[in-house]
Amino acid sequence: MATWTTVARGIHHRRGGPFDLSVVVIEGDDGLLVVDTGAEPGEGEEILADVRSRFDRPVRWVVDTHAHFDHTFGNQAFGPGSTTDAEIHGHAAIARHFERYEGPRLAAWRADRTREPERRWDDVRLVAPTHPVERMTRLDLGGRVVELRPQPPAHTDTDLVLLAPAERVWILGDLVEESGPPMYGSGSFPLGWPAVLDRLVDEMLPGDLVIPGHGAVVDRGLVAHQARELRSIADRFVAAHDAGLGAAEALAAHDDWPVPVGGLVGAVERAYAALDGLLLEEGGTAGA
Ligand SMILES: [Zn+2]
Repeated sequence: MATWTTVARGIHHRRGGPFDLSVVVIEGDDGLLVVDTGAEPGEGEEILADVRSRFDRPVRWVVDTHAHFDHTFGNQAFGPGSTTDAEIHGHAAIARHFERYEGPRLAAWRADRTREPERRWDDVRLVAPTHPVERMTRLDLGGRVVELRPQPPAHTDTDLVLLAPAERVWILGDLVEESGPPMYGSGSFPLGWPAVLDRLVDEMLPGDLVIPGHGAVVDRGLVAHQARELRSIADRFVAAHDAGLGAAEALAAHDDWPVPVGGLVGAVERAYAALDGLLLEEGGTAGA
């Protein structure tokens, strides 16, 4: 059962589904903008039905905060060929990220469903943005403007932040999380992520509202706190690499990581790959 909260005039936050996903609806005079679409086509349909039952305007725009499956595998319920036929906006690198990560993951699941038996991916079509966003873009919803701000590599190489400038509401996707620790999922950039958050914190005002990819609405202070945590993790990875420690040794060198150490196994490997110059072709600046 999903829960809805109105966070500002015409801006509504829905939490629900298997991943406690944040879906955001922003009302404009010309229609609705929906942020993120769920982890499978069925969830996308459910979100769409829920939105239609609550609002009498059509969904005209969808924005993907990043490429991960739990945010995009419902795109087909909203995009071209659907009854909604909305524009889908997202970071310009999402199509490439789909090719590199979500596509192979889907293919592996179809070859052996016992790997992830809880998924319902029979009908998934990877629907990349119809409107790839390369630089800061303003979407006019009618009576309201929303900024789409693609970010440098951080949680993924496809992170895009939304800002409703009049209401001072930020939508950060998985750049921050409230209901769990920050998640280093597929294709993360552990070394670049802290600086991306630092720059966002610099732009935020004390009363700004921040909607995370999963969990309750937070504030600038929580974003700054997660930036410090991610910075301390990145600094330790760099120091361990400089000292010639292997990835497993880097994790074993501390017993006070700010997030569960199990979630850092992939992160340290990604950090080491960046430090060894192996991620440059993904568009990630290795460290900065
Ligand atoms: Zn994610």
